[in-house]
Amino acid sequence: MFILQTIRKDFPALSQQVYGKPLIYFDNAATTHKPAPVIALVNEMNSFINGNIHRAFHCLGTMCTERYEEARETVRAFLHASSVEEIVFTAGTTAAINTVAFSFGERFVHAGDDIVITEAEHHSNIVPWQLLCERKGALLKVLPVNHDGSLPVEQLPRLLSKRTKLLCVTQASNVLGVMNPVKDIVAAAHACGVPVLVDGAQGAVHGGIDVQDAGCDFYVFSGHKLYGPTGTGVLYGRQELLDEMPPWQGGGEMIAAVSFEKTTYAGLPLKFEAGTPNFIGVCGLKKAIDYVQELGWAQVREQEETLVRHATRRLQEIEGLQLYGAAQPKTSLLSFNIAGIHPTDAAQLLDKMGIAARSGHLCADPLMRRFNVQGMLRFSFSFYNTTEEIDTAVDALKKIKQLLSCQ
Ligand code: PLP
Repeated sequence: MFILQTIRKDFPALSQQVYGKPLIYFDNAATTHKPAPVIALVNEMNSFINGNIHRAFHCLGTMCTERYEEARETVRAFLHASSVEEIVFTAGTTAAINTVAFSFGERFVHAGDDIVITEAEHHSNIVPWQLLCERKGALLKVLPVNHDGSLPVEQLPRLLSKRTKLLCVTQASNVLGVMNPVKDIVAAAHACGVPVLVDGAQGAVHGGIDVQDAGCDFYVFSGHKLYGPTGTGVLYGRQELLDEMPPWQGGGEMIAAVSFEKTTYAGLPLKFEAGTPNFIGVCGLKKAIDYVQELGWAQVREQEETLVRHATRRLQEIEGLQLYGAAQPKTSLLSFNIAGIHPTDAAQLLDKMGIAARSGHLCADPLMRRFNVQGMLRFSFSFYNTTEEIDTAVDALKKIKQLLSCQ
């Protein structure tokens, strides 16, 4: 049963005050707060159950190895991947994308090839591809974004060619909130023989994806945006591709045998997990996924949809407020500007009223240029937010508008 006030008690961060005001946390697209079961598990493991994984045969090492591999199975089931070999733990979305950019790039990208991304990408899904293209003498091509924030998927066949080695697209924009039709995009790319990487940083927290149904070749996400610990993330890769890709980093546990003459590598997924991973964090991520699944994705989505509907209606009461990304379906975030008010001024004043909102380029400079603005203000909601919090924030914005318009 989804009882909001009970659920909110699971998140200690939500009951604190900032500047003497009750915290209203609307920056969930940047990172989410952690429920008590996740915090308790991480504390318990740090306090008592800490033994390095995959190497020690003592009790603590064995317990940690078992829990870590259970977490891999939980993530496999969450993404409906066909095997745990396809689930690589990373430090986050950025680390996962860089792993693919290096490793897939080393194996498959040559001078004169191209990589296609979209104008709606976070810097994390732009810069690693630029670095790869510079290294290899390849070209970066960009699918533009429509004015309503949707992608012109029909243009893909014209943009993709025999030289296109990968298409990288976000499941949901961290600026516009628009959910892209991943299955159609994958179908269009595969029809041209192009594999697809889906950035799930903003999608995983709204239910993730069925990677087999969507057909994507890579899917990446961060644990800290899904109520899990920071420094955790996932790279799903289709086994045939991961098998062909060379390791990115060398070190402990990614090897089969080492000699000065020749080193052979471990099989999947350990080939891509050099060194001691954040195993306690990964166990916390499993707990976070279990927690949301127990709440029920349908209830979570329903609550988030209620919040976005309410916020859209209330924000539109403010004269001169422009919302970006009208296309549907959307995640639970709204980015906007108020005529004559700098978004960062508004965010700083909101902060003093206890309201955490995000402002600036939102790690998406190209999208800011696309909409001809220097920055935006963003409210991003989680199921633990309330319509009352939205009302307080809208009233605060109205006051800020009055204050800054008088100057
Ligand atoms: N991609 C998208 C769409 C994001 O929203 C973010 C973070 O906001 C990232 C990638 C990068 O995630 P991280 O900083 O957790 O690696």
